[in-house]
Amino acid sequence: MGGTFDPIHYGHLVTAEAAAEEFGLEQVIFVPAGQPPHKPPGAVTEARHRYLMTVLATVPNPRFTVSRVDINRPGPSYTVDTLRELHARYGPGVELYFITGADAMLQILTWKDAETLFGLCHFIAATRPGFRLSRLESVLGPLMERYRDRIHPLQVPALAISSTDIRERVRTGRSVRYLLPDAVMHYIQKTGLYTGQGRPVPVTPGREGDGV
Ligand code: NAP
Repeated sequence: MGGTFDPIHYGHLVTAEAAAEEFGLEQVIFVPAGQPPHKPPGAVTEARHRYLMTVLATVPNPRFTVSRVDINRPGPSYTVDTLRELHARYGPGVELYFITGADAMLQILTWKDAETLFGLCHFIAATRPGFRLSRLESVLGPLMERYRDRIHPLQVPALAISSTDIRERVRTGRSVRYLLPDAVMHYIQKTGLYTGQGRPVPVTPGREGDGV
């Protein structure tokens, strides 16, 4: 499950659960991007906050884990590198599904080693209500034809929730209750994230390496 998670919300969690059920996934590894390749450095919240919010949100679900694989790798978080690292850790017998937003996947042709990616994993493209699948088909063109069996759209009505909207709500003092887990909401309140007046949060910086 790749994303910036700035912040993580119920749309992401519902997507992960739906994908796991639909495709029989043993576990879902949330991989917060360290430095999202298409965003200028500094445009996203510090990785340690996004990582901690992702941990807080996923703790109750035994099938969910969080990996620092992208955060620990210096430079842009290219998905091809993430997938190679995960393959190396889990071995050749494990099949990987990369779950992300269909809007993010619309850019996939601009991703590093785009065509190689389809050989490394299946893609689950989570769509917001109103998303027209034909957009993905026309953007991917012949690639969609070639890899149709590796690209799986998944409609997720809960993705009406968006991180952009949540950040804007916090900035303007509106409620975000019921859009994300309480623990994440409390973390945002405690740290002052998204208000433009963030205070240092008393947490230990992440260690190098993790269990995943
Ligand atoms: P983004 O542009 O911030 O997101 C695009 C849209 O997809 C947003 O509407 C976003 O909603 C949604 N989205 C993102 N992740 C999602 C998820 N896991 N489940 C459901 N919806 C999701 O995308 P991004 O976060 O930067 O990138 C997504 C993933 O693609 C990351 O793992 C990133 O590393 C990878 N990526 C790789 C390359 C490359 O290899 N060159 C380039 C770009 C992206 P919210 O804002 O509500 O999340």
